[in-house]
This record gives sequence, structure tokens and C-alpha cells, in this order.
Amino acid sequence: MSVVVGGGTGFIGHHLCKKLRSIGYKVIIVSRTAGFNQITWNDVQENGLPDDCKAVVNLAGENLMNPLRRWNAGFEKDLYDSRIKTTKTLLTAISSAQTPPEVFVGTSAIGFYAPDDENSYTEYSPGGDHDFLSRLCSEWETASTLGPSLTNIVRRVIIRVGIVLGRDGGVIQNIYPVFNLGLGGRIGSGNQWFPWIHISDIAGIYQYAVCNSHVNGVLNGVAPQPLTNSEFTQTFAKAMNRPAIFPVPGFAMNLVYGSERAKAVLEGQKVLPERTLKFGYQFQYPDLISACKNLCQ
Ligand code: NDP
Repeated sequence: MSVVVGGGTGFIGHHLCKKLRSIGYKVIIVSRTAGFNQITWNDVQENGLPDDCKAVVNLAGENLMNPLRRWNAGFEKDLYDSRIKTTKTLLTAISSAQTPPEVFVGTSAIGFYAPDDENSYTEYSPGGDHDFLSRLCSEWETASTLGPSLTNIVRRVIIRVGIVLGRDGGVIQNIYPVFNLGLGGRIGSGNQWFPWIHISDIAGIYQYAVCNSHVNGVLNGVAPQPLTNSEFTQTFAKAMNRPAIFPVPGFAMNLVYGSERAKAVLEGQKVLPERTLKFGYQFQYPDLISACKNLCQ
């Protein structure tokens, strides 16, 4: 059986594909460039899904925090097309498949929920309409709505991904050299929530959604231990045996990333994985100390 993974070349996709291969699936990646077991989005439009396709996952998305991209209409369009158009391409292929896959697993982000210092959010909480990124999340989720003829046939799971911690991508890849030099510190006030998850667990949740027929709907892809940015910074620096005394001021983040993106790290949400736990997913790294020990090995 095969699993089709849009964006499978990326940080999370790479870890997910490895897990899926290790349990016997053939993985077909959908990418902007063709390769071995790697097809393009055009191929999907023209030829549809493989006959033995068990599951379709979409992890494609232009990197929001790419400092080389200025925030302008062109960047907004790329953020949109790389998520919503790719999702729609996969959904069209699912709709026209002779034997539809068992499940579609789509991606969204915790930016769906409005930043809030006090209240916590579960998958049942409202959101998705407070700024550009939250509306992007809403449309990303809506793009994977299945037609009436498929709703009882194809399971639909949406994972709202938190801040993913892994040595080979995302935030840790950026901050590791800085902390290693002893130059790390909290970002902004440090009081904002930091809804983190270890790379092994986010890939694990996608795998769990693919393999378990009782899992459906929205799952928060965050660890069950909510922390602030300051608490994360102190724990990470301690695991590296380094001080964390050089805060990164908010204005510097605004300067590098622009205010629309810098918000994603200067503000935060307290997000809980209520449904993820209810469906029985067991976190490998439920607390930051064990996660940081692994990241700093
Ligand atoms: P990556 O930045 O590693 O990128 C995933 C893949 O998306 C890339 O490998 C690339 O595949 C494809 N892609 C990039 N730009 C475009 C584009 N303009 N058009 C079409 N495809 C594109 O992402 P992650 O693995 O870190 O994250 C996966 C998803 O999860 C993303 O949608 C991201 O927004 C979301 N997410 C990630 C978080 C994190 O902390 N990592 C946090 C919250 C959400 P190729 O080059 O093969 O075409």
C-alpha cells in the first residue's frame, strides 16, 4: 500500500515519510520537482493517485519565517497557493479516484487561535478570523472539505501544528548556533505562550492519523505541557549548559521579519491537545526537559 505525501521533502514530511516507510508503506512524495518515488503537482492533476493509495497527507507550504522573503502581496499569494491550491489538487484527485483512499490528513497551524495570555484553547475553541494567518488557516482547513459522496468513505483529519522542535529544521536549527555561543535569550517579553512539540511527536501524530481508523477531525499538534517563551528559553539553555541572558527585543524581530510574521513569535497561544490525547496518541516527549535532552544530545 502507498501513502501520498504532499510536501514530503520538508522538515516534518521527511520525518513522517521515514516513519511510514519503517512500518512498510511505499511513500510517494508530491513536490515541485520530480525524483525517485517523487511526483509533481502536475502529475497529480494529470494522472491522479496511485491505485493502491491508502492515505493522502498534505504538508506543503511556503516557509512563513523565510527572512529572505519580504512580506508583500506576492508572498501572501505564495503562502496561500502553496497550502490551499495544493490541498485542492489532492482533494480533486481523491474525488476522482476509482478506489478512494481511507484518509486525508491535512495541515493547519496553531495561528488559527488568537493570541491570549490568559485563556487556553482546545480543538473545540473558536478561531480562524483575527488576522491574515488565522484566515489562511481557516481556508486551508476548508479546502480539504470532502464532497457529500465521500464524507462517509474518506476520513478527514486536520492537524493544527505548533512550534516544531527538531535539530534538522524549524526554530531549533536557527537558534542552536546562537545558544551554543552563549548568546541566546528569550524573545520579546518572554511571557507569551510557546506552544511547542517535538519533531518525533508531530510526525508521530500524522502517522497515528494515517494508521488508526477511529481518528478524525481536528487535532492540536502540540505537547501537553504549555510553557512560556521564557520557560522554553531557560530549559533549552540549561540542556545546552549555556546561559540565556541576551533577550531578542521585539523591535529586532519586527525589523527582520516584518510585524505580520514577527507576531507569530512575539505573541502566543496556550493550546492543549485535548482531542489528540482523547484519541489515544501517546507522546514520546510530553515534557520539555526530555525533549531538550534529546535535542541537545
Ligand atoms: P517546510 O518549510 O520544510 O516545507 C514543506 C514543503 O513545502 C517543502 O519541502 C516544499 O516542497 C513545499 N513548498 C515550499 N514552498 C512551496 C511553494 N511555494 N509551493 C509549493 N510547495 C512549496 O515545512 P515544514 O515541514 O516545517 O512544515 C510543514 C507544514 O506544516 C507547512 O505547511 C507549515 O506551514 C506547517 N507548520 C509548520 C510548523 C513548524 O514549526 N515547522 C509550525 C506550524 C505549521 P518541494 O520543495 O518539494 O516542492
